[in-house]
Order: sequence, then structure tokens, then C-alpha cells
Amino acid sequence: MLGSEYLNWDVAVVGGGHAGCEAALASARLGLNVILFAIQLDSIAMMPCNPNIGGSSKGHLVRELDALGGEMAKNIDKTFIQSRMLNASKGPAVYSLRAQADKRRYAWEMRRTLENTRNLCIRQSEITDVKVDETGRVLGVYSESGAFYECGAVVLCTGTYLKARCLYGDVIHATGPNGQRASVGLSDSLKRLGIRLQRFKTGTPARIDRNSIDFSKMEIQNGDEPIVPFSFDTDPRSIQRAQVPCYLTYTNSLTHEVIRANLSRSPMYGGVIEGTGARYCPSIEDKVVRFADKERHQVFIEPEGEDTSEMYISGMSTSLPEDVQEAMYRSLPGMSGCRVTRNGYAIEYDCIDPTQLTTGLMFRDICGLFSAGQINGSSGYEEAAAQGIVAGINAARFVRNKPPIVIDRSEGYIGVLIDDLVIKGTNEPYRMLTSRAEYRLLLRQDNADIRLRPKGYGAGLVSREKYERLISKTREIEDEIERVRKTVIAPSTRINEFLRLNGSAETMTGVTLAELIKRPELSCSVCAVIDSGRPELPEDIREQVNIQIKYEGYIKRQAAQVEQFKRMEGRKLPDNINYAAISGLRLEARQKLEFHKPVNLGQAGRITGVSPADISVLIVFLTANKLQ
Ligand SMILES: Cc1cc2nc3c(=O)[nH]c(=O)nc-3n(C[C@H](O)[C@H](O)[C@H](O)COP(=O)(O)OP(=O)(O)OC[C@H]3O[C@@H](n4cnc5c(N)ncnc54)[C@H](O)[C@@H]3O)c2cc1C
Repeated sequence: MLGSEYLNWDVAVVGGGHAGCEAALASARLGLNVILFAIQLDSIAMMPCNPNIGGSSKGHLVRELDALGGEMAKNIDKTFIQSRMLNASKGPAVYSLRAQADKRRYAWEMRRTLENTRNLCIRQSEITDVKVDETGRVLGVYSESGAFYECGAVVLCTGTYLKARCLYGDVIHATGPNGQRASVGLSDSLKRLGIRLQRFKTGTPARIDRNSIDFSKMEIQNGDEPIVPFSFDTDPRSIQRAQVPCYLTYTNSLTHEVIRANLSRSPMYGGVIEGTGARYCPSIEDKVVRFADKERHQVFIEPEGEDTSEMYISGMSTSLPEDVQEAMYRSLPGMSGCRVTRNGYAIEYDCIDPTQLTTGLMFRDICGLFSAGQINGSSGYEEAAAQGIVAGINAARFVRNKPPIVIDRSEGYIGVLIDDLVIKGTNEPYRMLTSRAEYRLLLRQDNADIRLRPKGYGAGLVSREKYERLISKTREIEDEIERVRKTVIAPSTRINEFLRLNGSAETMTGVTLAELIKRPELSCSVCAVIDSGRPELPEDIREQVNIQIKYEGYIKRQAAQVEQFKRMEGRKLPDNINYAAISGLRLEARQKLEFHKPVNLGQAGRITGVSPADISVLIVFLTANKLQ
């Protein structure tokens, strides 16, 4: 084809979803020439499923992404229509921000940011092939027309499109989500490169016309006031605006009856669907079957946007036939006359086995080829975006011959996400949960900037001005903690009156402010009235002081565990170890270690099938051979 090899880019990003957008922005903002491909430009940053960003553990990922210099947090601060802090009655480790997005405005705003980013070109085209040279280094990609795009690095972010099929009842479409074209050729190209693929599935509920719902029969759920921003760079005063409500209703015995009576017509239960579904995002059919003893399941009715009457029926994703869906949704209180605008459906798609990747998200056997998002076996916009920024930064660093950045499990949920995927692998869509993060008391959403902004600055994505702002914030926190530790409150009638009024024990001796703040019934803000030396400080600094004082003991203990973790991560494993020759290692461990090729003892210890006893054998081997 004339001039087929006419375009040369530093980085090519295949996919304009949540991973692709972050990857492309990161590489371009680091000064590289980047081209982003999407099968449909109008589907850039599309939210094919739930109309919200954040929630339990996902809010942490969005904050960490923002700390590193990513875009998702800013984009949702511009386009949210409701915002709530989940788990506010629990401890700060599980506080999670969640915002309802106006889906169309979210996608539109992200596209605008891409279009206004220097060095970044977006292009509507399906990539069908990845070219790799005989040394195993990526050379570029081919489009469906046969055009060849030469590039220094490629980031695959193809989401739920690879060989996608959408199913409900007997209806099967070989399409991507929302009727988008599926990606056909690329799966075979990846297989030819020796990349192992797996087949996963996920699902979405129907959309219902709000004008056909009787909300008086549901519980209203309003947003929080004041509204807390996702981004550390968003001025909270700039986002205080009117919010739209969500509603809570429940399934009932009639709903469950309709579902049970038609299970055989579900492609999931009819054996038509091959892909493995998400344990933590079950369809309503799965819930009724797996939790048969439950009388009802919560269903949240969420607006898809301000300029549309479509409502998302959260908690009822399904692939049952159209008529069954109609009957099932109409059985809910307030929905007896509801009108379906789009049917729920299941989608199955190809994704890779992520154990083929390094913790920098590059394929271990193909230099310069990176992968991020749903293609890596994860599920969720936030999980995708978090991987996207890491892959985007590392693709840029690869082109510049710099070592990759790696976020480990003690630094962030992003580190837990990537480490779980590439070390342990996954045989179902992987969704982030707070329980996955063993150091979650340190990995709170409120301190994501303190934990990761230095890494974003080091990578070149965070400006000096923002970094210096963080340094002065950290200093102010330390100074204030020092002050409350040194401030002694002398016992007096007024102080004991204050303590009694707050249900706290009176004191006969001097007590430091820090000791008072530590009391469960007291806090920095409660003690403000007895704290005459209290300086004017921003709310986010007060929050840090309060948490670090109140949970000091837990934080110290977890920090000691992190020290132990870092020591194990620090014991490097040479990549030419012959595990088969190490006597004392069990056969399964030898095979798994040979397959995964962990880079350090910590990673080795997290591989399924490698026991603590095997790790002891390895330590003896390393010491005896002076390998560490
Ligand atoms: C029906 C459905 C239900 C879902 N349900 C849930 C859920 O319940 N919970 C949850 O957490 N997540 C759910 N998700 C997943 C969520 O949508 C994804 O996690 C998220 O969108 C993944 O982002 P991504 O960037 O990896 O990929 P996507 O957002 O899927 O974007 C992929 C991009 O790649 C492009 N592309 C693909 N192949 C090619 C190619 N060969 N050439 C060029 N461009 C290409 C596409 O055009 C698109 O722009 C669901 C998704 C769908 C479709």
C-alpha cells in the first residue's frame, strides 16, 4: 500500500477507554509524541456500565492516580452530579469518596482534555496487529487498513472489546459494549506473539426511563454537603453545587420467582457464555441463586446524567431475555409501570493472563509492549485508569531508556492492584477491595498525595509548584502534631466541664492535647474550644493531624510491618537462578518460581504455591551462595 509506513510515533496507545486516556496523557505530558487509537472516537472515556467513579477502595485508586498526576479525579470533579463519602461512620482507612457522573459530560470533558494536550493525536482506527522484531522488541502496530505505525513503545488498553460478544436471552451480537464494533484481529495477533489469553465476562443492567418510575415508593439518597473533591488540586469552594438524588429500592419474592422460573433461558445458566464472571459484581441471577436465603437485594436507581431521562439500575445486571427483564424490573416497588430504554446484557471478551507482565506493566518477553486496564483481567474504570497511568509513564521511560517506576504494596492500592495481577494472576475479573490491601491503615484516601506525589514529581508528571505545596503541607502537619504533643492542658473547672459535656473522663492532672485527641469521644475539632494556641489551618491538614494522633499506635505497628515487607522486597533474586537445582525446594515451588521469575523474595513469597518453608530454603541458598 502506497506510503504504508508513513507515520512514526514515540508511543502508540491502543484504546480510548479509562486506561488508554490516562496512558496517553501521561506519555504526552512527559513530552513524547503519542497517538491514541480508538475503534470509535465518540466512545472515548465511555462508561458502559455504572455511572459513577469511586466507592470502596476505588476512591483510593482515584486519589492515588491524582497524586501521581493523572486526570480521572479532575475530570469527575468537573462532571459529577452527586457526591458522597461512603463508610463515614467507620474508620478513616475505609472512608471512600464516590461521585455520580454525568456520563456524557464525563466522556466529553476527557476527550476535550485529550484534544487540547500537546504531542497527542487521537485517531479512529482499529488496530489489528502488533509488529515485533526477532529480538523480541516491539516495532509498531498495523491498522485494519494495513497502515503501519512505527513506534518506540505500544500500550494495549483494549478493555472489553477483544473478540467481544454481547448476550441477553437468545440474542448474541459480535459487538463491543453499547453496540460498538468489537476488536476482531488483535487477539489472534497477540496469540501469534505467544501471549496467553483468557476469556472473561461481565454484565450490565437495563436502563429505565425516569418518567416511568414512581420514586415516592423508594428511599431517596441525597449527596453530601459540603462536597469533598476527588482531586487534591481542586479548590473545594469551586465545586459546591446542586446535586441530583439517587434512590434505593429492593427486589422481592416476586422478582426472585420470575428469575428462578427463567434461569434456563439465561445464557449464563444455559451454558452459552464461556467467559468467567466477576465474583464481586454478580448478576441478579447469580445473587438469587447464590444467596437463595436472602429475601431481598438492594437496588440503587441512579441517574445517567442531567440531560437524559435514563436511569441505571445498580445491583440488577442481567443477561435474561427481554420479556423476563421487563417482568423482573416491574416487580420492584415504584417500578410497576417502568419503561426499559436499553436491555441489560452480558459481555464476554478476551483478556491476557497478567502474570506475563512485569510490575511496570511491560510484557516480560516483549520489550516495549505494555498493557493496562480490563485487558489485564481487572474490572472497573478506576482499576483501568490506575494501570493506565503506570503503563503510560513506563512506556515513556522505556522510550527514553529509563528504568520503570514501580509502586509497591506498601505505597498504594495501585501497587496492590498491579502486584496481585502480575504476581498472583487472576482467573476472574479482578475488582479492587480494601481487604486486599494488607497495609490499608497507611493507604488511606486522605494521604494519597503524601504517599505518591513525590513519585509523580520524580517521574516528571507533577509540577514543582505542586510538589513544593506538598512539602509545605507535610511540614505544617508535622509542626501541628508537634504542637499538640507539647501543649499541656492544665486541669480546671472549665476543662472538666468541657470533658463532661463531651462524655469524656475528667482529669485531675495536666494532660497533653494529643492525649485528649486520642480519646475516642474527642478529636482535633472537638478540642478546638479548649485549644487557645490553635493556628488557622486548612481542613485537609487538620484531618491528617487528627488521624495521625488518633491512630498513632495502629499506624506505628503497620509501619513496622512495612519495614519487614521492604526488607523482603529488598532481597533481590538474580534472574538466572536455576530453581530446579535448589534442593529442598518442593516441586510445585520450583515450577512456579521458574514460571513467574520473581525479582525479589517478597514477590516469591506471594506466588500461589510457594510456601514460607520454600522461602526459608531460598534464603539459605542466597546466603550460602553470597547472592545477597
Ligand atoms: C457491559 C459492561 C458491564 C460492565 N460492568 C462492570 C461492573 O459491573 N463493574 C465494574 O467494575 N466494571 C464493569 N465494567 C467494566 C468497565 O467498563 C471497564 O472496567 C472499564 O471500562 C475498563 O476500561 P478500559 O480502559 O480497560 O477499557 P474500555 O473502557 O473497555 O475501553 C477500551 C477502548 O479500547 C478501544 N479498542 C479496543 N480494541 C481496539 C483496537 N483493536 N484498536 C483500536 N481501539 C481499540 C475501544 O474503542 C475503547 O476505546 C463493565 C463493562 C461493560 C462493557
